Amino acid sequence: MKRNLCLDLLAQRRRGIPAGVVSLCTANRRVLSAAFEAAREDGTDVLVEATANQVNQDGGYTGMDAAAFRAFAEDAAREAGLPLERLHLGGDHLGPLVWRDRPAGEALARAETLVRSFVAAGFEKIHLDTSMRLGGDDPDAPLPVALVAARGARLCAAAEHEAASRGLERPVYVIGSEVPVPGGTTETEEGLRVTPPEEFRATVAAFRAAFLAEGLAEAWDRVVAFVVQPGVEFGDDGIHAYDRAAAAALSASLGAAEGRVFEGHSTDYQPEPRLREMVEDGVAILKVGPALTFALREGLLALSHVEEALLPRHPELVPARFPEALDAAMRANDVHWRRYAHGSEADLAFSRRFGRSDRSRYYLPVPSVQEAADRLLRNLEATGVPLTLVSQYLPTAYDAANEAGRAPDPRTLATARLRDCLRAYAAAVLPAEAPAARTGTSRTRILARPRRYDVLGVGELNLDLVLTGLRTLPVPGREVLADGFRVALGSSTAICVAGLSRLGLRTGLRARVGKDRFGEQAAEFLAQYGIDASLLLVDPSRPTGVTAALSHGGDRALVTCLGTIDALEADDVPDALLAEARHVHVGSFFLQSRLRPGLAALFQRARALGCTTSLDAGWDDTGVWDYGILDVLAETDAFLPNEGEAKAITGLDDAAAAADALARHCRVAVVKCGADGAVASAGGRTVRRGAFAGVVPVDTTGAGDSFDAGFLYGLLEGRDLDSCLAFGNACGAIRVARRGGAADFASREEALALVRTGEVRKVG
Ligand code: ADP
Repeated sequence: MKRNLCLDLLAQRRRGIPAGVVSLCTANRRVLSAAFEAAREDGTDVLVEATANQVNQDGGYTGMDAAAFRAFAEDAAREAGLPLERLHLGGDHLGPLVWRDRPAGEALARAETLVRSFVAAGFEKIHLDTSMRLGGDDPDAPLPVALVAARGARLCAAAEHEAASRGLERPVYVIGSEVPVPGGTTETEEGLRVTPPEEFRATVAAFRAAFLAEGLAEAWDRVVAFVVQPGVEFGDDGIHAYDRAAAAALSASLGAAEGRVFEGHSTDYQPEPRLREMVEDGVAILKVGPALTFALREGLLALSHVEEALLPRHPELVPARFPEALDAAMRANDVHWRRYAHGSEADLAFSRRFGRSDRSRYYLPVPSVQEAADRLLRNLEATGVPLTLVSQYLPTAYDAANEAGRAPDPRTLATARLRDCLRAYAAAVLPAEAPAARTGTSRTRILARPRRYDVLGVGELNLDLVLTGLRTLPVPGREVLADGFRVALGSSTAICVAGLSRLGLRTGLRARVGKDRFGEQAAEFLAQYGIDASLLLVDPSRPTGVTAALSHGGDRALVTCLGTIDALEADDVPDALLAEARHVHVGSFFLQSRLRPGLAALFQRARALGCTTSLDAGWDDTGVWDYGILDVLAETDAFLPNEGEAKAITGLDDAAAAADALARHCRVAVVKCGADGAVASAGGRTVRRGAFAGVVPVDTTGAGDSFDAGFLYGLLEGRDLDSCLAFGNACGAIRVARRGGAADFASREEALALVRTGEVRKVG
């Protein structure tokens, strides 16, 4: 279920949410690894772009073509534990850039090959840049915009053709180029020129006409952004900070772009508030490159100081001399820095080491430099890093280290400054407050600010009083003896959230409990499962809900006092809480009589704040099976009823048909079919997956809630539908095979092992 981030972004902005996307333009392995680890921890997606001079059919300066870059990025993602569905690739300045000295015909033919190779390698975002003069073009006159556009359309046609011939998902396009050639400017430009609105409108009109003339109307709809110069740039020792007043006219002209956005290049080193303003003003795609390697180099230089401070106490160490190794590599081959630095020898040395143009990024991969960096990290692994040195040389990493009581490992410390930089971008693209949204999808943020909860459960919490081994089922006027008694965590929402917690996700539960001992005990259960119980609301007007489960032979009688079970209301879940969660789950729609009426609006708010949503039905003992559930489904990403519930809601007699019918209202509908597994429907596709074979069911309490936990775990990992079903079935199967009651859950390792090796029952 991989989604195109830029299309998601546009959908969000159309709903009035000022979201943005960060594009990481780097081929540095350490940078990518750190960014991917951060994204894995935060549960977000990452967009990485390769530039035409970096990666092309001739190898570029990284020596990679598009397919090799993809393999390189995927390898780093795998190593960082980032699911590949959450890695997105883009191509930057794709066009005749590298061959601009050749005759136009030849340069464009090579550019076509370039664009095709990126599309063939599955890059989903293609920036077409045909703004440069080619051999044979008039060297004295500016290139006519119609010619630039016609060349761009020609490359787009090649891209579309390639995608069609390979049966690939069509890419989205970014057009225009109002920036210096990739690689960086030689100095900070005085009085940077913001793209004049009329120029922007002319570019849009010219490209539109050229695309239509090439028969590319459909591709034109997939043009998501225009590159403009919003007034940002950086040079070796200064930046041109974004000035929203100077960009106001440009920003106002975005209306001409029919819901599209601007893409900002060279946003490196901008203060975080300026980045935020850019996103608000429509520069919603923020590209960053040199600042990332700059921050990595900062970390490594800081660690060199740490090493220097430790050497006298560790005479056994061979010093790594990382700064010297880097400078030696730069001096040995000056092609990548000489023309960017000026002045005396001392000025040149300073620029090499501290310049914002970050020419050193071209030298970090040199073997001697890599070796020095590796030795530095090994040395510090051997000595350990005292907290005082973290405080001295990497102060932004100090507070967390001090709280943890020790310094993180040197590899993490080396990327501390890089993570600071990524966090600033993450904060800039995540809308702080979003107006109420209409409908649509949500997960568009990339490298977003970490949220406290992977899943926020909303709904009910009660205790189950389980009496086992009754001599007979209850008889009026008689006392019936039972063999055993235990108190357990009950209720669908809480059980699903506990299952998610056991799978390793960070969870919290918003529910009401009474001001009584049972309420306290329910909170203790949550804490035992690692669920944040501080979100519970105490309602002194009702007792905490309880279910007495009386089991006799193979049968059970259940008696429930609702108490606080159905007391929660939508207003009990404020935006501030939703903004702390990646996903919101409500486990009992039909039971929640007070929450139900406000649930569609609650889910809408959640989505506007960037959460995904899921819903389970629960039984409707009134037999109505409606209560506005379709309105709620319109705001639901995953709906997870069991077979009986799905049939009752749809009036259909077949689980798959019911799933298809429900999927017309939400993103994914999943119908749980007990020992027959489950069937899911999404986007016109129906996937059935049999339950795991060889399971001897001993207690089916909470099977559906455990399934939900497994399925949602897969969904939040960005797995495909079949794999989500496998996780759901695994958690369901492990639950029913155990005697420990509803809350005896599968751990992540157990679920993974069953998914990997378990035999699946055939489905008819
Ligand atoms: P609910 O508890 O909501 O009625 P189900 O009875 O459909 O839900 O069970 C939920 C999931 O648990 C099923 O989709 C399946 O994956 C798993 N499950 C239930 N019973 C069995 C079984 N006998 N063997 C294997 N898996 C089972």
